[in-house]
Amino acid sequence: MGAATWVLVLNSGSSSLKYQLIDMAGADADGGAERLASGIVERIGEPGGVADHGEALRRAAGELKEQGLGLDSPRLAAVGHRVVHGGTRFTEPTLITDDVLAGIEDLVPLAPLHNPANITGIKVARELRPDLPQVAVFDTAFHATLPEAAARYAIDTATADRYGIRRYGFHGTSHAYVSRATAKLLGRDPADVNVIVLHLGNGASASAVRGGVCVDTSMGLTPLEGLVMGTRSGDLDPAVVFHLERVAGMSTDDIDRLLNKRSGLLGLCGDNDMREIGRRMAEGDKAAQLAFDVYVHRLRRYVGAFSAVLGRVDAITFTAGVGENSAAVRGAALAGLHNLGVTMDPVRNAVRGHAPRLVSADDSRVAVAVVPTDEELEIARDTYALAAAPQDG
Ligand code: ADP
Repeated sequence: MGAATWVLVLNSGSSSLKYQLIDMAGADADGGAERLASGIVERIGEPGGVADHGEALRRAAGELKEQGLGLDSPRLAAVGHRVVHGGTRFTEPTLITDDVLAGIEDLVPLAPLHNPANITGIKVARELRPDLPQVAVFDTAFHATLPEAAARYAIDTATADRYGIRRYGFHGTSHAYVSRATAKLLGRDPADVNVIVLHLGNGASASAVRGGVCVDTSMGLTPLEGLVMGTRSGDLDPAVVFHLERVAGMSTDDIDRLLNKRSGLLGLCGDNDMREIGRRMAEGDKAAQLAFDVYVHRLRRYVGAFSAVLGRVDAITFTAGVGENSAAVRGAALAGLHNLGVTMDPVRNAVRGHAPRLVSADDSRVAVAVVPTDEELEIARDTYALAAAPQDG
């Protein structure tokens, strides 16, 4: 009974598997998809956790079965996988074949922390339901439209091309979803709206989207570049790396860990959670205040830079854990930007909520919005469009 309209969305990390089951039956451009279930299996391969990703997926399948949502159901149409790095080869959601899987494996050197887990997730899902279309949705894909001027690093071209060194950008499904949702909030066609999206989660990135097309983004070859993040440094002088090698005697792996795991907010003040930093600031903690100030200063630089890149900005939108919840970060990031046409409404900004909303003043030339991101829904949409919809016919 019922057409095959369910999509299982899998986000496989190195030690966790997040899943959502979404029914696309009533979905259109404006919504209508129904989230049937979601969950997370954590501590994969760690003491007290499940052994591997195969067992994690069986655990998830068991949890769904208990809710009457077995993955053996004929209603399941496809599986959508979040894949972090698509390189230059995968610029759109892609039906997974052996050849595509090999292509994702070829990209492991570009994303050694992420792609291997994504690949494992794909393999175990294919074993579970080999009959189903499986779709890879890439974090980099939305940024494939970056003009060369924005995507190129100014290094020797032959070296860059040989090793695939360029700006790829990440969080693409979020930037795509949120920029479209911003246009909807403004009651306008995405093709007519220029928006700066600030995705501020544990990882953080900014993007400049002109008429629905991404034209610049803050993350680069890897998710390390750009904004200050929970544990990542974001932008720094690349010579810092040579200096640490030569003067501090650190190895490449030491520096990789330092910049990815022990920097950002955590490195500056010992905490990577903006809630805790807010509490400490309220008590007058100087290190927490400095971490906040560095974080906000970087954000303002990108807002200014991307305003210039876009020329005309219709909206600045905050999303993800910090962006959706921290009125302090939003307020500080955009304070005093009247010359850029930005006027916040402090009362609206302070109101908590779960729906997309405006936090700018009515007379602000640039709308400031808060839009909760939904990467799983975006992946389900892409997956269903590619794998399932034609078979419904
Ligand atoms: P991820 O990148 O892991 O998906 P999220 O988008 O869930 O991250 O963001 C997680 C971060 O959001 C937390 O580390 C915390 O700093 C921040 N955060 C969550 N809730 C709040 C809140 N109420 N106020 C301020 N920051 C928050």
